[in-house]
Amino acid sequence: MRIAVAEVAQETDSFSPLVADRSDFEAYGLYFGEEILERMRGVGPIGGFLEIAALQPHPVDLRPIVRAWGSAGGTITAETLDFLTGRLVAGLKQSLPLDAVFLSLHGAAASEKEDDVEGHVLQAVREVVGRDIPVVVAFDHHANITRRMVECANLLIGHETQPHDPPATGRKVARLLFRMLRGEIHPTVRWRKIPMITPQDQFLTSAGPMKEWFDLARQMETRSGVLDVSPYPMQPWLDVAEGGWSVIVHTDNDAELADSLAAEIADKAWSLREQFWRSERVAPAEAIRQAVAAERGLIILSDTGDSVYGGAPGDSTCILKALLDQQIPCPAFVPMIDSEALQAALAAGVGARITVDLGGKLDHVFSQPVRVTGNVAAVSRGFTVDLRDRGICDLRQTALLEVGEVRIALLDHRSFAVNHPVLYTHLGLDIADAKMVVVKTASNFQFFSRWRSGLIRVDSPGTTQSDLTAFRWQRIPRPTYPLDALADWSAK
Ligand SMILES: [Zn+2]
Repeated sequence: MRIAVAEVAQETDSFSPLVADRSDFEAYGLYFGEEILERMRGVGPIGGFLEIAALQPHPVDLRPIVRAWGSAGGTITAETLDFLTGRLVAGLKQSLPLDAVFLSLHGAAASEKEDDVEGHVLQAVREVVGRDIPVVVAFDHHANITRRMVECANLLIGHETQPHDPPATGRKVARLLFRMLRGEIHPTVRWRKIPMITPQDQFLTSAGPMKEWFDLARQMETRSGVLDVSPYPMQPWLDVAEGGWSVIVHTDNDAELADSLAAEIADKAWSLREQFWRSERVAPAEAIRQAVAAERGLIILSDTGDSVYGGAPGDSTCILKALLDQQIPCPAFVPMIDSEALQAALAAGVGARITVDLGGKLDHVFSQPVRVTGNVAAVSRGFTVDLRDRGICDLRQTALLEVGEVRIALLDHRSFAVNHPVLYTHLGLDIADAKMVVVKTASNFQFFSRWRSGLIRVDSPGTTQSDLTAFRWQRIPRPTYPLDALADWSAK
């Protein structure tokens, strides 16, 4: 049994001033051929797939082709998409005949030439392998599902949780694929688009309306004949022609059941739409006051407008400015992506006192540079760490700049470590000493959970801000709630 394995994944922030090129994928590990099998054990959806493949009674002939993961960022350049698709297509052609194709895709990627990147990739795969073999996909559940994706894939399965468990999604897809290949099941797909978008504030699946919606999916999966129910609350910074939430239901050859469940779970999301817009966001200056006044640390300050994991540049100075203005009396750890400031700190060396204009350089619209004078307390000339199921992370060069009680970790790129304790610990800091930490995410607080005593969602501006109505939407279908008044809608 011969199965091709590939990953082409990036989450696009349409409002980001950045573009994503090959270097963005290289920063997170761009691998080809056998190297994928070595690097991806236990990592991401491919790691989960490999785990299940290894348990099969007969050896599986794996054909790893390309692993390209670009995290989240700006629109992908046309050249980069052509390069990645070209490598995938060439690898598939060399691997024919195949029994199946396993793909890990994000689902919310857009490029300069194609605003439905995954539809484009899936169509290219289908054109090589034909209609008859299974093409199965592990998606991020913030995907934007399009008609072309549904037409070209046999399984379109999303993460069950936010924060995500990518290996678990890979395992789920793999189990269903091997059952298909044994002829035990015949998946039928039905789906619905839901004409809504919502901010990230209610995106955690552990509580609130998102829990209610995802719990319904899990409950539906216990019904006879249901193979998978995948809700897709699209990430809210994707301005594309078929943008919006969706649901996919896979049943064992029962189109009627799949269709009725798809309608039911789509209507459920619509019925919860106002709850998805609930917010506990706090203005920056007030957020800092609350964090300082908290009895004990660690208070997580979520920089919602500058979420690097959502594709934002990571150089917003909004919260930093509020920290400096208030001359806080307790340590705050802050990440800042600014290669100029980092180079100045590295050149000056440990112990030097420097004045730099910090941040506000990648995104000029929502944030401006802040002039600071501080001490270079530590530098790192290069650091690579294994972040377990997130893979190998190369932080490259970093430096620690101390401005009063504010400890600023300077990076030169949007590393996954930007929201990870290792960013501070590798520069000699102890997380237990911090009263607060700024994270560039609105959902992935889990890495600091050991120290966490509170969370404040800061209402910061930026390309991942929660006020979606303030963006200039150009391509998303209209009407879409809440950009337009849409009183009556039903998926039935
Ligand atoms: Zn996601």
